[in-house]
Amino acid sequence: MPEKALKTVCCDVVNRGVAVYGDNVYLAALDNHVLALDGATGKVVWDQKIQDPGVGYALTVAPLAVDGKIVVGESGGEYGARDFIVALDAKTGEQVWKRYTVPAPDEKNGDTWPKGAYLHAGAPAWLTGSFDPETHTLFWGVGNPSPWLAKLRPGKNLYSDSVLALDPDTGNIKWYYQYTENDTWDYDGNNESVLANITWQGKPVKALLHVDRNGFFYALDRTTGAYLFAEPFTKVMSVTGHLPDGSPIENDAVRPDIGKSIFTCPSFLGGKNWWPIAIDESRNLAFVPTLHACMSMNGTAVSYLAGLPYLGETFEVQPEPDSDGWGEVQAIDINTGKQVWSHKSKQPWNDGMLATASGLVFSGGADGYFNAFDAKTGKILWTSPKMSSGIIGVPTSYQVDGKQYIAVLSGWGGATPIWGGMMAKDPLVAKIPRGGELHVFALP
Ligand code: CA
Repeated sequence: MPEKALKTVCCDVVNRGVAVYGDNVYLAALDNHVLALDGATGKVVWDQKIQDPGVGYALTVAPLAVDGKIVVGESGGEYGARDFIVALDAKTGEQVWKRYTVPAPDEKNGDTWPKGAYLHAGAPAWLTGSFDPETHTLFWGVGNPSPWLAKLRPGKNLYSDSVLALDPDTGNIKWYYQYTENDTWDYDGNNESVLANITWQGKPVKALLHVDRNGFFYALDRTTGAYLFAEPFTKVMSVTGHLPDGSPIENDAVRPDIGKSIFTCPSFLGGKNWWPIAIDESRNLAFVPTLHACMSMNGTAVSYLAGLPYLGETFEVQPEPDSDGWGEVQAIDINTGKQVWSHKSKQPWNDGMLATASGLVFSGGADGYFNAFDAKTGKILWTSPKMSSGIIGVPTSYQVDGKQYIAVLSGWGGATPIWGGMMAKDPLVAKIPRGGELHVFALP
């Protein structure tokens, strides 16, 4: 890995996993190479560079294999990259299509940006999308516009902070939905799209569920992109509600400016960050790892310089007023967006969720304990021995020779310790060792 590739990696040196497809394992690397490795030997089958390193781009995403193609999205929303999603031929690595997440001025919605801004507009695609074979659609979340200070780029800034519904064969946009318009709070829109069948107004709907950093739990019709509902799941002060057509209602009083400091919730770390929810369709529940954190934010002068951060804001994460702690696990009814049960935590809850058909939900805390919750009630039915670090690795389940296992990584890192402000300085968080262990449990 060339050293300059590490220069423009936001929020720790991370990788979110690989794709396994046919005989190969596919890896996206921080230096913007996508590699196919022989699954049996590890030998490089092909190695495709999709962007130069060190100029604002990085690949932290786990690739997604779809119909003979390997799809990845670029990171770089904090460096003024013009981000994109690209599909490569799984056999050869040749590019099949490339979709910029910010349109050029002569393209549809190119007029949602000031002149020339699209070249350094960010809108990264750093989290793996979801493929729906039923509607033959690829759903991919898009992150914050650049720079962070929205005053410098008036307009809706499409397709930042949006979900794109793409034709996986061509990369053409079928529809989009924007969670936050003209984002100035780094809310991104990258969080996962979960495909679920819900009941809405008495009718079954093929829905897309999304729990956004802006603090809302969303349900969209994934066939048409129509807005169904959005309900807040943590304290919200920036996006405060939605019009009947789904347009977000935003609070201009909490927009920072040069010389104007604001306080708002959630923080840029989000009401939920990228660690995924899980759903239990048979019980109509989604399990949501939640953060209770707010922030102060101030505008600063900024110019674009290749390979340097492009923010225009300073910030500090602060506690949510009247909150019992930094974290929570919530069960939310997927038909209504309303809370069903809650498990509060003094520390932030930075781990993803795993739900089983038998009605268990697995997730680990920053306290180093891994838990099995009762899906229906939230009661903790089992807790692991204390691990040597906090847990942010997403649990997984697999079967070998008829025996089922649950695995999880214990280890602490990512954005929270680096950018977490008062949350990171809280002794309950600051003293968490980095760790780095794999724990595997067998079901009896
Ligand atoms: Ca961001």
